Amino acid sequence: MKRMLADLHLHSTASDGKLKPSDVIRHAHESGLKAVSLTDHDTITGLKPARELAGELGLEFINGVELSTFMNGRECHILGYGFDDDNPNINKLFGSQLSQRRTRAEAMIHELNKLGMEITFDEVWAEAVNAPISRVHIARVLMNKGYCATQNEVFFRFLGNRGPAYVPFELVAADDGIEAIHEAGGVAVLAHPSNYYLYEDLKKLMDWGIDGFEYIHPSHNYTQQMKYFNHARNYDLLVTGGSDFHGYLNKDYNNLGMVAVDMQHFHHLCEFISVHSESTNAQLT
Ligand code: AMP
Ligand code: MN
Ligand code: MN
Ligand code: MN
Repeated sequence: MKRMLADLHLHSTASDGKLKPSDVIRHAHESGLKAVSLTDHDTITGLKPARELAGELGLEFINGVELSTFMNGRECHILGYGFDDDNPNINKLFGSQLSQRRTRAEAMIHELNKLGMEITFDEVWAEAVNAPISRVHIARVLMNKGYCATQNEVFFRFLGNRGPAYVPFELVAADDGIEAIHEAGGVAVLAHPSNYYLYEDLKKLMDWGIDGFEYIHPSHNYTQQMKYFNHARNYDLLVTGGSDFHGYLNKDYNNLGMVAVDMQHFHHLCEFISVHSESTNAQLT
């Protein structure tokens, strides 16, 4: 019997992906997936077109976002699902992440200029169109200008977390990010935890209300998958997963329809959200 799969981690041109939101949905549908979430970095501008096309194609869709947050001096990616995309607070948070990313891009471009690369903010801005500016957009400009051949080379030589032109940005604290997702009626899931977190960190995230762990991700080996699957089961939390797809032309991750989770996890996520939203509403009345 063919497995029914959900991909709950996808990127589009609304952030640093290569394909438009509607094209991501079209490809997801063609690859045989039954449910998806679009989880762009720090923005929800792709949700509406993605949701509309998914509805037309009969593909189940849930609102998503991948929030860049800060914890223990490091970046911590938190996936938000099922939130109200009109919620004013969460939109305010996306607005501040957007402007922080812009300031940080200017600083990284300055560092690249000092290293002798001729690259301007306007060029990067044009590459990003209306997306929150990512290192990926800067990388594309460097590649177009012939400074590097691949995105990996850009990260390896200049923009990786220890690279000479890397500048961190002022991110929302992880606990505040989780709270904002909850306040908008959604659930918060720790993205691709890999081996980045000690048990104390996971405990802290659970104290702050994290609702689940992304156990299926292209960067996870089988041991890591089982670690987070068992951890979630022990604490009665959710597990999710997906391909972290960024587009066919990008070597980043390219596993649409292959790295995904069984539909039961999608249904469990939806149930969890409806219970969570009811309790949020109950608190309001
Ligand atoms: P930013 O959100 O601006 O910090 O950029 C991070 C994005 O760059 C990630 O979401 C990935 O899409 C991409 N990325 C991160 N590390 C690498 C790497 N080593 N090689 C290529 N792309 C990367
Ligand atoms: Mn990305
Ligand atoms: Mn991530
Ligand atoms: Mn991602």
